[in-house]
Amino acid sequence: MEVTNKLVKGGEFIIKETDAQDIFTPADFSEEQNMMHQTALDFVEKEVQPLLERLDNHEEGLMRGLMEKAGQLGLFGVSIPEQYGGLDMDFTTSLRVTEGVGGGHSFPVAFAAHTGIAMLPILYFGNEEQKNKYLPGLTNGELMGAYCLTEPGSGSDALGAKTKAIPTEDGEHYVLNGQKMWITNGGFADVFIVFAQVDGDKFTGFIVERNTPGLSLGNEEHKMGIKGSSTRQVFLSDVKVPKSAVLGEIGKGHLIAFNILNIGRIKLAAACLGATKMASTLSIKYANERVQFKLPIAKFGAIKHKLAQQAIRIYAVESAIYRAGMDIARMEQELLSKGQSHNEALLGAAREFAVECAMLKVEGSEVLDYVVDEGVQVYGGYGFSADYPMDRAYRDSRINRIFEGTNEINRMLAVDMILKKALKGELDLMGPAQAVQQELMAIPDFNLEEETGLFATEKKTIAKLKKAILMIAGTAVQKYMNSLAKEQEVLMNIADMAIKVYTAESTLLRVEKEAGVKGEEALSTQIDIARVYLYDTVDQVTKFGKDAIATMTEGDEQRLLAMGLKRFTKADLYNAKEARRRIADVLIAANEYAY
Ligand SMILES: Cc1cc2nc3c(=O)[nH]c(=O)nc-3n(C[C@H](O)[C@H](O)[C@H](O)COP(=O)(O)OP(=O)(O)OC[C@H]3O[C@@H](n4cnc5c(N)ncnc54)[C@H](O)[C@@H]3O)c2cc1C
Repeated sequence: MEVTNKLVKGGEFIIKETDAQDIFTPADFSEEQNMMHQTALDFVEKEVQPLLERLDNHEEGLMRGLMEKAGQLGLFGVSIPEQYGGLDMDFTTSLRVTEGVGGGHSFPVAFAAHTGIAMLPILYFGNEEQKNKYLPGLTNGELMGAYCLTEPGSGSDALGAKTKAIPTEDGEHYVLNGQKMWITNGGFADVFIVFAQVDGDKFTGFIVERNTPGLSLGNEEHKMGIKGSSTRQVFLSDVKVPKSAVLGEIGKGHLIAFNILNIGRIKLAAACLGATKMASTLSIKYANERVQFKLPIAKFGAIKHKLAQQAIRIYAVESAIYRAGMDIARMEQELLSKGQSHNEALLGAAREFAVECAMLKVEGSEVLDYVVDEGVQVYGGYGFSADYPMDRAYRDSRINRIFEGTNEINRMLAVDMILKKALKGELDLMGPAQAVQQELMAIPDFNLEEETGLFATEKKTIAKLKKAILMIAGTAVQKYMNSLAKEQEVLMNIADMAIKVYTAESTLLRVEKEAGVKGEEALSTQIDIARVYLYDTVDQVTKFGKDAIATMTEGDEQRLLAMGLKRFTKADLYNAKEARRRIADVLIAANEYAY
């Protein structure tokens, strides 16, 4: 299938319509992308799954050994240039590999900390000497990395870190003192990316080697889930590092921390996606095997509803992840063609789509929580038993809503970044928002014209939902101006509206594009998926919108906005029950997640 190269801007989905031909869908994966995905899946199945219990018990050297094997197989090198021993593959391939390892419980956590937040700061902010020194070993698995940002007193408020870095009198060294908390891979890492304040307030990144005197580790944390991953405190007591250990520029550590997080967030969503598919398949298999009232429970409507709903949400978030992933990859190519370096280009592209990355982090982690929660329910009492797999899946899922920026922080960030883009003139939000305000005063358009084509009606619904977002966001900006940041509940409402609409639109566009190639009959259950997802989205957007209107307005203004919301969320009733049954029947027949 031909992939077009339409460039879009981050956050633009709110004000523009997208042509189905311009988005990337999983049907567009190249052979190489699928092959790398399969390699990652095989690794998890053959190497990780048999060790899960032992990994959870922290058997000495086991996780490190697994990580070394993954490195030897090339899984760490997907995004690393060949000159440092990597495979130099595109961004979508790195998402696909991350999805592939996603079902490996604690393993993807160790994998993501190493390949993401530990290696990428060196790749993107290291100088040539640092890259040559560390990247080849980190790529082939000889060296392991960890990332030390969080402290006991500063988590979400990462820049509030207290760890100090004091230059020595001769200016040749820095002496680090402080305490880092929750450090993934802490127990076996050789290289730590450490953030510290130089001269009290210049937030700066450092590369600190494990054997540096003064660096010591706390015990393994006792965690609710991902028990197999190593999580320790890192203590820095007069840790003396040469000035060559400074990563990037003094006082510019926030650039490292935040830029790397953009990429980390969409990758976290991809890892969650891999885990959802595994949990969905487990649920389907169990539902087919478990007999109650002389029938496999998969025959019951209530269970079909769960199996379908798991698949619908998985399919939807997958559509959004790979759409955004390719938007980032295309922007990277564009920036490269404009003469930016390899490093600047991917970071710049991820920054451009930081809104989407934050939204996907939220949705990816929440879909996984939903899928494993319903998975436990499908398993009944056995779902609550540590002898069955859903127990671990349920516990391991929960962390994803907390790290890489909590979901609250990511929701607020997403809206904040959209508004900042508008203020900077990078996104024309105000024009369309004013047009929506004017439309509110006008006589409603009764949509009398004939609609044709697959999803013609649904696409109109999406366009109206976007107007609802613009109406609410526009009102919030007018009402609160500079104090909007304090109205977190409203920001959350706007974020949730945007997340649902982006995901619903991505799903419709994916199905439309794929149906255009294979025909509507071949995609009939995917068409059901897109319609059910949109049906639910309309109600969710209505609820978020109502909450915001009730908070922000009163009297005539409230009545006007409520009427507008009603108009923008008007959609026909739809028999979602029958659609879900059709979707579930396909899963039940396939005995696995089949979309
Ligand atoms: C298993 C595990 C592994 C981790 N791995 C690493 C790692 O490798 N490296 C690393 O540096 N860190 C790591 N972390 C730390 C992780 O990133 C932080 O836990 C996370 O950023 C949240 O910080 P916190 O725990 O201090 O929570 P807090 O920031 O105290 O947040 C508590 C609650 O308050 C909310 N909140 C905070 N600020 C605001 C606000 N302004 N407005 C509204 N709500 C707010 C949060 O959303 C949350 O619900 C890890 C954590 C865990 C549990």
